This record gives sequence, structure tokens and C-alpha cells, in this order.
Amino acid sequence: MIRPDEIIRSNRKTLAISVDPFGRLIVRAPKRCGEERIFAFIREKEGWILRQKAKMQGAGIYLPPENLNGYELLLLGKKYKIILTDTKRIVVDDENLYLFLPQEKPKEKLVKWIKENAKRIFTAVTKRMAERMQTTFKSVTVTSAKGRWGSCSFNNAIHYSFRLLYAPKEVVDYVVVHELAHTKHKNHSALFWNEVSKFIPDWKEKRAWLKNRGALMEIF
Ligand SMILES: [Zn+2]
Repeated sequence: MIRPDEIIRSNRKTLAISVDPFGRLIVRAPKRCGEERIFAFIREKEGWILRQKAKMQGAGIYLPPENLNGYELLLLGKKYKIILTDTKRIVVDDENLYLFLPQEKPKEKLVKWIKENAKRIFTAVTKRMAERMQTTFKSVTVTSAKGRWGSCSFNNAIHYSFRLLYAPKEVVDYVVVHELAHTKHKNHSALFWNEVSKFIPDWKEKRAWLKNRGALMEIF
């Protein structure tokens, strides 16, 4: 028997279920709807719920606790264990996958550090890909806006969310190629996707990867 993690009651007339990015089952129900009806509805949708949960939990994303010590942070698809220690600056142990953070204001310093690295890495990848795609762009900016991984303006200024740094390299490549393809096509037409698939043949997989991991947007 699957139990809901959250029941949200409102003036709605029908029952609805969803699985959030962390694999939690959310039920939306009318104000006076009895638990029996809710549980019957869940039983009916069990197969779908289990598939959704597996998809979300397979992403292995969970939110950092208040004290960051021990939290495993995804960076370019690799999991680094955070250790709070007597260090002044952030130190990465790439071999053993540790990330050493100062005891004082670790979260602020970490987010700043992620943003700096995101800017440096995304700029380099964008330059490299632009050359391969034989196109140019105006600038690369890293933003904190939630909800989109990247965007390309009418004058080819490219923006990326710093949270894209949590994704594996191949997924970063896909987003970069996607935005650069917008320098040639300002839409999502067949011509646009044709351009993307020249460089990322399995772009559908990469796009689905991001779609199933909206939880990455919530880490910091
Ligand atoms: Zn697009």
C-alpha cells in the first residue's frame, strides 16, 4: 500500500495525484473527500505511481541538511562528500571525491564558488562548441534564475543557470549546443533540432535527463 506524503485539500471537485521531483506522492483532493476514496484512487494508479517514484528516486537527489557536513553534492555528475574543516578556502579532492569547506558561512561560500566555476566552465564549453558549430555568440552569463537551464537572447547573449553544474558533462554539452543552435534558429523548429542532432545525436535522452531532475534546481 502506497501512502501519500502530502494531501492538499481545496475547493477542487476531483482527485489528482502527482509525484514530485524527490519521489514524494502528492494528492490533491476536494475538501470533504474521505480517506477511503483517496486510498482507492491511489490503489488504482499504483503502477503509474511506482514508475514515477522509481524515475525520480533513481535521480538520487536529496536536499542538503542545515549542517552541510556529510552532504553529497553533485558536480558535473560526480558526487562529492562535503567535509567542514579548518580551511580558509574551498579545497577539492578529485581523486577521493571530497569537498572541503570552511566552517564559517560554508553555504554562502559554496554557492559563490559553484557560480564562479559554472561561469568559467560554461564559457569554455560554449567557446569550444561555437567553434565546432561554426557560429558566434555575444556573451556568457551565469544566473540564479530557477526554472530554466539556459537561454539565448535575440542578440545571442547566452545565459545558463549555475545549477547546470550539477549535471554530467554530456548534459552540459547538450544545453550548450541547444543554446548555440538558437544563434542560427530562434525557435524549436525541425531545422533547429536538426542542427542540435548534428552535434548531440542523442539529445532526446539528455533533454529527458534534465526534465526528470527538476530537483537539481532546489539544491541551493
Ligand atoms: Zn530552446
